[in-house]
Amino acid sequence: MVSRVIPVEEFDLVIFGGTGDLARRKILPGLFRRFLSGQMPEGSRIIGAARGEMDSEGYREMIREAIAEFGGDEAKDKDGLAKFIDQLHYVTVDAKGDGGWKELHDLIRFDVINAFYFSVAPSLFGDLAQRLHSNKIADRKSRVVVEKPFGRDLETAKALNATLAKHFKEDQIYRIDHYLGKETVQNLMAVRFGNMLFEPLWNNHYVDHIQITVAETVGVGGRGAYYDNAGAMRDMVQNHLMQLLCLIAMEPPAVFDADAVRDEKLKVIRALQPIDPHHIVRGQYEAAKKSPSYREDAENPKSFTESFIALRCEIANWRWAGVPFYLRTGKKLRARTSEIAVVFKDIGHSIFPGDEKRHRNILAIQLQPNEGMQLQVTIKEPGPGGMRLIDVPLDMTFADALGPDAEDSTDAYERLIMDVIRGNQTLFMRGDEVEAAWAWTDPLIEGWQERNDVPKLYEQGSAGPEDAMMMLHREDRKWREIKE
Ligand code: NAD
Repeated sequence: MVSRVIPVEEFDLVIFGGTGDLARRKILPGLFRRFLSGQMPEGSRIIGAARGEMDSEGYREMIREAIAEFGGDEAKDKDGLAKFIDQLHYVTVDAKGDGGWKELHDLIRFDVINAFYFSVAPSLFGDLAQRLHSNKIADRKSRVVVEKPFGRDLETAKALNATLAKHFKEDQIYRIDHYLGKETVQNLMAVRFGNMLFEPLWNNHYVDHIQITVAETVGVGGRGAYYDNAGAMRDMVQNHLMQLLCLIAMEPPAVFDADAVRDEKLKVIRALQPIDPHHIVRGQYEAAKKSPSYREDAENPKSFTESFIALRCEIANWRWAGVPFYLRTGKKLRARTSEIAVVFKDIGHSIFPGDEKRHRNILAIQLQPNEGMQLQVTIKEPGPGGMRLIDVPLDMTFADALGPDAEDSTDAYERLIMDVIRGNQTLFMRGDEVEAAWAWTDPLIEGWQERNDVPKLYEQGSAGPEDAMMMLHREDRKWREIKE
């Protein structure tokens, strides 16, 4: 099987914040890989635009170093790197001032696709959008890419949407949630809607519950100040986990296009029930031998911000009524893993004498570190000695079937940027989706603030606070193990 790379049309991509951490670590190494794969045409140009004084030559050097550091094995392709670097330009631009905008205007070609990546603090989105228009750089055909965080509550998200809407139509705005660019996330839709096998069982008649886990081993060191103002709910649940929940729970869209998919996701968010406070567990990691506590990392000895959260929610519609969705995410946990597990109900009656163990089919979908799926099935334990049953995972990691093609190294960012150039918004969040997610999240946060809820401490390298275990235990269920 040969992977097909379909080149996109020629483009000029301006990266505001082109000297920042995200641009150097993710965006430019990703674009370099797309260039090497043949997807980014040679005539295309990438224009870094940021506050720092620098010329294009200086920028090329900066990005050469960034790709050497973050570009992986591909960075060894010296010829490829030289050609890619030639396509880079730089303009010193101040989002809040007049400097640089004329140079930017003169550099842009208006007869190719234009995209503007706002890889800067959201407080600058309005200035950038306004100056792109007043300097006649952006028009009705331009696309604009915006990074998370998209607001910190419903009010700020609405304000950001309104700011962007002054200058761009919704079909020009690409709100990035890099989780949606992951191969397995898209595969989730292929598995659900491309097979007969799963969809008939995908409802409250057959599914006992669903677990979504996004566990990290890192702490918040380095971005403590930002994180302490956000917490796991705002930083992870409102966006990434919510998107995964939507893809797992949504109805089949009539067609696979941006608005049909996003309409279905929106219905899921709107059907989410308010959560009983007993169904939310917030945690903070304690200090370990050589590793500071959350409060030390956040440099806030009185912080009540959560570095871990587990919650149980329900979706009030015909398909899912009564099925708990358990979500958890946290820092400094046992392993780095993201997994969705669909746990099916017990069989109605066992015909095997002496088999008292509970057997449950589980479809586990791993998003990272290794993307793949396993279906837990019950079989006869091999060998003599009667009908003893065991549960084994049917491994559907795609390496065997797909060979080298399974190892698609395309990173979420590069996939999403290519979608921007293609004009495909399916994997980007629409404004109303983001607002609906905040509308559900805000009262939960307000609730624990009003209750003065104190996060439970948990050990570094654990699976989170004991209370999170108990939350499932009380309902005769169990979290899946956090492991790579
Ligand atoms: P950063 O601080 O490393 O870089 C900020 C960039 O913005 C720099 O290039 C700087 O020159 C530019 N800038 C600042 N003020 C400016 C102005 N007035 N005019 C023009 N340019 C200006 O930030 P970052 O980590 O690269 O993050 C950029 C955005 O992406 C932020 O909104 C952040 O929340 C978001 N984000 C970052 C990451 C990440 O891993 N770094 C992940 C997700 C989202």
